[in-house]
Amino acid sequence: TVSVALFTADLRLHDNPVLHAAVREAERVVPLFVYDDGVRAAGFDAPNRRAFLADCLADLDAGLRARGGRLVVRSGDVVERVRAVVAETGADRVHVAGGPSRYAVRREAALREALGRALVVHDAVVTALAPGAVTPAGSDHYAVFTPYFRRWSATGVREVVPAPRQVRVPEADSEPLRPRAEVTGTSPGLAEGGETVGRKRLRAWLKDGIAGYESGHDDLAGDATSRLSPFLHFGALSAAELVHLARREGSPGADAFVRQLAWRDFHHQVLAARPDAASADYRDRGDRWRHDERELAAWRAGRTGYPLVDAAMRQLAHEGWMHNRGRMLAASFLTKTLYADWRLGARHFLDLLVDGDIANNQLNWQWVAGTGNDTRPNRILNPVTQGKRLDPHGTYVRRWVPELAEVPNRSIHEPWKLPAAELAATGYPQPVVELGEGRGRFERGRGTA
Ligand code: FAD
Repeated sequence: TVSVALFTADLRLHDNPVLHAAVREAERVVPLFVYDDGVRAAGFDAPNRRAFLADCLADLDAGLRARGGRLVVRSGDVVERVRAVVAETGADRVHVAGGPSRYAVRREAALREALGRALVVHDAVVTALAPGAVTPAGSDHYAVFTPYFRRWSATGVREVVPAPRQVRVPEADSEPLRPRAEVTGTSPGLAEGGETVGRKRLRAWLKDGIAGYESGHDDLAGDATSRLSPFLHFGALSAAELVHLARREGSPGADAFVRQLAWRDFHHQVLAARPDAASADYRDRGDRWRHDERELAAWRAGRTGYPLVDAAMRQLAHEGWMHNRGRMLAASFLTKTLYADWRLGARHFLDLLVDGDIANNQLNWQWVAGTGNDTRPNRILNPVTQGKRLDPHGTYVRRWVPELAEVPNRSIHEPWKLPAAELAATGYPQPVVELGEGRGRFERGRGTA
């Protein structure tokens, strides 16, 4: 017998229910990856993620080869390619992970139409708890995190499944993998991807990082978060396995970390129930967003004149990754000070973020913009007070905005207070908008809905 394990957002050998089920039931397995035209057409094939994907696939192929198998690669329309592989190999079944996005749901429906009962969809592969696994009375999803987290915490996460020891692959043509070296336009400081690197980072995190997470996770300069998000995005690490490993640690840091993994599940269950929230307001507030290309360009370039916002935006450009606090601040500044449409910011993040994820990105943007699931939708983050609190010595700012390196602490988050000639000499811009004016824009424009 032959089964196909179709890899999507689960590019790993460890704790992969899709691969595990295929290997267990069939004598031979086709570990299949399709470079899907649909993903590119959806504008989701950005250079940083393409490079990280290349690492993940190369590592997956190497891991399969070490087990006697290999990755089978095709490109084109995913449903057609799967159908062709099934016909060529005489496979009886195709296993795939369920996904929350509209794209994943459509893919699943099309596969179902093509394959009928041969298709087996596995839940809780991409997330720790499947979307819809817990629901409040009278609704198909939780709109508020705290009650979700309570239920999520009280619900068992599925057991971890082992990596297969051996994978026997039938005769099947394969296209070559697309190497990372051929990807152009990536961020210079982009991290390396793949399950092997991810597991190494995970072990280091459990040993040296997680215990300090509760106290350190907001310290921008300390950079004391796990940086596991890209591995989770591509499924090179399993969210369910992370929950089990962190719970075993049993420290306040581990609890705080598990809570963040629940946030990830939370946004996935919102998106699964409300796929339109990827582009439409989750709660339509009747905003009359402003559109000012000059201001948008300053924000994208990290030249708003607000050092913490600019540091965060430059970290994004350089690494394809940004600290969570930086993301919140940069997003709040765009949507509540410049008062620009959150979709423009979300698009820019998706163009650059190596962990750029339709559920986490779009719904975090909506959360910050106040059109989403924040129970205090009108709060505005002030970059000066946030700077003094989260980067009290200006270390993060000086790291990413080198023209401010010599500015003394007292002005590091308010460089416009320097004598005009001194500010001019740094080459750093004046604020693109004054904070009070920004607040007025938001309060006048946001409507009352
Ligand atoms: P840690 O602090 O170590 O947290 C561990 C894991 O928990 C993360 O890897 C992530 O998977 C999950 N997590 C943490 N915070 C959140 C959160 N608020 N929402 C959902 N999951 C969370 N995360 C993405 O994975 N992809 C995105 O595209 C994305 N876009 C964002 C956009 C905005 C405007 C904001 C405010 C947040 C966004 N986040 C996104 C959430 C969060 O900022 C990142 O997951 C986190 O910074 C990743 O760093 P880390 O792995 O070191 O996180």
